[in-house]
Amino acid sequence: MPKPSFSTLLSHTGRRFEERITTVNLPVYRASTVLFPSLAAAAEAGHGASSGVGAPHIASYGTAGTPTTFALMDALCELEGAGAACRAALMPSGLAAISTALLAFLKPGDHLLMSDSVYGPARVFALGMLKRLGVETTFFRPDAEAGEVATLLRPNTRVLYLESPGSYTFEIQDVPALAVLARARGIVSMIDNAWASPVFARPFDWGVDISILPLTKYWSGHSDVLMGAVVVREEHWTTLWGAVRELGMCVGGDDAFLILRGLRTVEVRMRRHEQSALAVARALIVRPEVGRVLHPALPSHPNHALWQRDFTGSSGLFSFELDPALFATAAGAAGATAPESDAARGAPDAARTACAMAALCEGRRHFGIGYSWAGYESLIMPASIANLRSVAQWNGGPLVRIHCGLEDPADLIADLGEGLDALRAALLA
Ligand SMILES: *Cc1c(COP(=O)(O)O)cnc(C)c1O
Repeated sequence: MPKPSFSTLLSHTGRRFEERITTVNLPVYRASTVLFPSLAAAAEAGHGASSGVGAPHIASYGTAGTPTTFALMDALCELEGAGAACRAALMPSGLAAISTALLAFLKPGDHLLMSDSVYGPARVFALGMLKRLGVETTFFRPDAEAGEVATLLRPNTRVLYLESPGSYTFEIQDVPALAVLARARGIVSMIDNAWASPVFARPFDWGVDISILPLTKYWSGHSDVLMGAVVVREEHWTTLWGAVRELGMCVGGDDAFLILRGLRTVEVRMRRHEQSALAVARALIVRPEVGRVLHPALPSHPNHALWQRDFTGSSGLFSFELDPALFATAAGAAGATAPESDAARGAPDAARTACAMAALCEGRRHFGIGYSWAGYESLIMPASIANLRSVAQWNGGPLVRIHCGLEDPADLIADLGEGLDALRAALLA
C-alpha cells in the first residue's frame, strides 16, 4: 500500500482511540458529519431521523443529535416526565424552546391563550412573529380561575400557554384545573417550568401536555451555558420533532455536557437556594422600606394555598415591592406642592424612582446587576413590567426582583439592608 502523503495524513491521523475506558461522565461528541459503514446504513439513518415516536435515537447528522445530546434528552424525560410517556427535544436557548413549541403547534387562523405574566420575550414572540403569521393571542389574568379562562376560549383556540409562578409578579396558577379545561376542548397545554425545575414541580403530574424548560437556569446552575428543552407527551412528539427538524434547532455536545454536569447537583443547589431566599424574604418583610414581598411560599402570598398544594418547594427567585408611601412621603418632603403632580397624588415620580433604584442596586457587595438568574450567584434587578402586561397591570410600588444564590444568606441580608438604607437616604436627600 502506498504511504499517504503529508496532506492526506493531516486529514486521517489521530482519529483512532487505541483503548476504550469507562469514565464517570460521558465523552463529548462534537459532530456535524456522522460516518456510515455503507450506503444502506446512511439511507436507513437518514430515514430514521425523522421517524419519531418509539424509534431509538439515530445519529444521522449533527443537527439530529449525538450520543451526548441523546443522553441529555433521555435524562430530561426521566426527570421532568416523571414516568409519563414523553420525549424531549433540545434547543439553543430557553426562548428558542418557547418559540419552537409555539410554532410547532400553531398555524394561521389559530388562537392562543396566554397568561399575562409570562416571560417577556414569550409575549413579544406572540405579538410579533405569531401575529404576523396570522395567530391571534388573548392574555388572561395569571391567577384567573379555570371558569374565567373558559369564557375566553374560542372555537379556534389551539394552545393554552402557562407559566407558574409568573415572571416578576409570581402569581400561581391553578394548572391542574386549566389542564383539564384544555384537554376537554382538545387544546394543547404548555407550561414554562423555569422557576421550580423538576425538583419542586412536575407539570406532567398536573396534566399539562408540554413542559418548556429553560435549561440555562437551574439545570445548568452556573450562568455559563444557554439551552432550552421542550418535553412533550408521546402523542405530540411527531409534531414537535417535525418542527425541530424543519427549523434546524439543535445544540452542541459541549453545552449538553455542561447541562448534564449541572443536573447532578440541581437538587442540593435548589434546597440551598430555597432556604436562602426564604431567609432573605423574611428579613425584607420587616424592613420599613418594603411593601409586599411576592414569594409564593410565604403565607402572605395571595396564591399561597395553590403553591402549597402543587409545589414541593420554592426556588431562589422572588420580587419585593418598595413601599409606595415612602416615595410619596419623600417627594412631599422634597417640597413637591403642585396639585396635579405625580408626587402630590402619591405616585412615585420616574426620576426619583430611578435614583432610589440605583442607590439600592448599585454597589451591592453580593448582588450583581444582570438579566437571567438561577446561577450560583445572587442578582438584583428592578422589574420594568409596565409594557409587559395587558390585563394585570401592576399598580403597587416599584418592584425589585432578587435571585438568591448559594452565598451565606446572612451576608445577603446584610448587603440588602445596606442597599435599603442607601435607598432611603437617596429619597430623603
Ligand atoms: C430565562 C427564562 C427563559 C429563557 O431562557 P433563555 O435560555 O435565557 O432564553 C424562559 N422563561 C423564563 C421564565 C425565564 O426566566
